[in-house]
Amino acid sequence: MTQGSTYPEPLGREQGRLDTGVPHIARVYDYWLGGKDNYAVDREVAERIIATGNPVTQNARANRGFLGRAVRHLTAEAGLRQFLDLGTGLPSADNTHEVAQRIAPETRIVYTDNDPIVLVHARALLTGSPLGSTTYIHADVRDIDLILERARETLDFDRPVGVIMAGLLHCIPDEDDPAGIVAKVLADVPSGSHLAISQPAADINANGMARAASVMDQLMPVKITYRTREQVARFFEGTELLEPGLVPAPLWRPDPDADTTPRSVWAGVGRKA
Ligand code: SAM
Repeated sequence: MTQGSTYPEPLGREQGRLDTGVPHIARVYDYWLGGKDNYAVDREVAERIIATGNPVTQNARANRGFLGRAVRHLTAEAGLRQFLDLGTGLPSADNTHEVAQRIAPETRIVYTDNDPIVLVHARALLTGSPLGSTTYIHADVRDIDLILERARETLDFDRPVGVIMAGLLHCIPDEDDPAGIVAKVLADVPSGSHLAISQPAADINANGMARAASVMDQLMPVKITYRTREQVARFFEGTELLEPGLVPAPLWRPDPDADTTPRSVWAGVGRKA
């Protein structure tokens, strides 16, 4: 088991090259979170969406907050010691390995993303505890079979795995079968594994989200799909949703005194029986 290993050569289909003239979702999201790893084109898209009046920075923060609370719960309460974090994003505050290894330093994490800028920054994700293991795979989640095969080099698929798909599935249009991708992961991990999903909502502040979607459609090279609660619920097929179910992200096991204003992000965690 290698501590802090990375697989810089793309696995599976060819990944896009780093192009600072084309906006990318990871960098737009980084801007909304207050990060610095973004370029003028990303900031322009991010600002154009803010200008529609959709509270998108709050949505992004709500998504990130859910990720941290879900990983904390899965490590501290469900006792998981390994995670597969798909669509990792740029390093930010409280990355999955930091949250999990603060509680259990021996936790192993496999990160994977298809964005070349995330690859550039991946080293920052590989600074985990010496007792644990953190690996980064540069791959497209649509090549899920290859990712699962490579992830087995770090994770033991005979023991429960925490599968994280936070803010990822809206980047996978229906024609690329996101439900099929989720189902393949669930088929490979054992009972007791958990699936955490958050996904921008089409049906919370529907008008604001429709305005954001129309800017996304015009400016983003990758099709972005916001989904209703019913559509997101289908991704959890084969799992039992933990309390409080599939809810707006701020309402998923909020910390005391947290702002629980519902934001346009569905979030939930399911346990494979
Ligand atoms: N998971 C992080 C979080 O919740 O804070 C980051 C979410 S960010 C909105 C979405 C991430 O998914 C980006 O880093 C993007 O590069 C990645 N992504 C989008 N499409 C992908 C694909 N087809 N394969 C792998 N990663 C993808």
